Amino acid sequence: MHLVLLGVAGAGKGTQVERLRGKLGLVHIAAGDLLRKAVKERTLLGQKAENFMKEGRLVSDDIVLELLEDKIREEKKGFILDGFPRNLFQAKKLDEILHRENRRLDLVINLEVKESTIIERLSRRLVCSSCGRIYNKENLGDFSSTCRVCGASFFQRDDDNPEAIKERIKSYLKHTHPLISYYRKKKILYNIKGEQSPEEIAQKILNFLGKKEKI
Ligand code: AMP
Repeated sequence: MHLVLLGVAGAGKGTQVERLRGKLGLVHIAAGDLLRKAVKERTLLGQKAENFMKEGRLVSDDIVLELLEDKIREEKKGFILDGFPRNLFQAKKLDEILHRENRRLDLVINLEVKESTIIERLSRRLVCSSCGRIYNKENLGDFSSTCRVCGASFFQRDDDNPEAIKERIKSYLKHTHPLISYYRKKKILYNIKGEQSPEEIAQKILNFLGKKEKI
């Protein structure tokens, strides 16, 4: 199965991937994680991408495709793509890559959220530095300042600040939002409201996939 998770930053894509990938037996391919790794390792691609990411702007298609194309091609068992495609050019490229190998996208899950929800979620988001699990500052309660799953420390993403958040929303509306109608026309779009609890959302997606399998 080949899935894409679509949605503005803070819509809950990462949180859903954590819940879905094991249940569906799919590999998670996250454009943002691959880019952050490249930045951390100071590779040439990472150095080119760094400032765009800090400011919340899209990195060039060439860089993103160079990081992702082989991963997508090599992942034969099925994947959940998160953060890619982010514009029409990338969406068409993805179709081409899959088409060349007689594969196709099965479903694009679009997580819809209000702008106020995004700003609130992103400004209190913490990420585990080792496993990538997502937390929010308030919900940590009495728990220590380390990840409940792997014990590593948290960090706040460089781009989870008010200026970059505004830019990311702007970029989403301009470049990524048009993908909704692109995939709707292809009849592979599933819309879901992202303000429900993560458990409810995951369950609805699984129910929908179950029904779709039987069609
Ligand atoms: P994310 O972790 O998905 O929120 O991505 C973090 C940042 O990486 C984005 O704000 C962009 O600067 C960059 N990025 C991630 N995916 C893409 C993509 N498909 N195309 C261009 N830039 C991307």
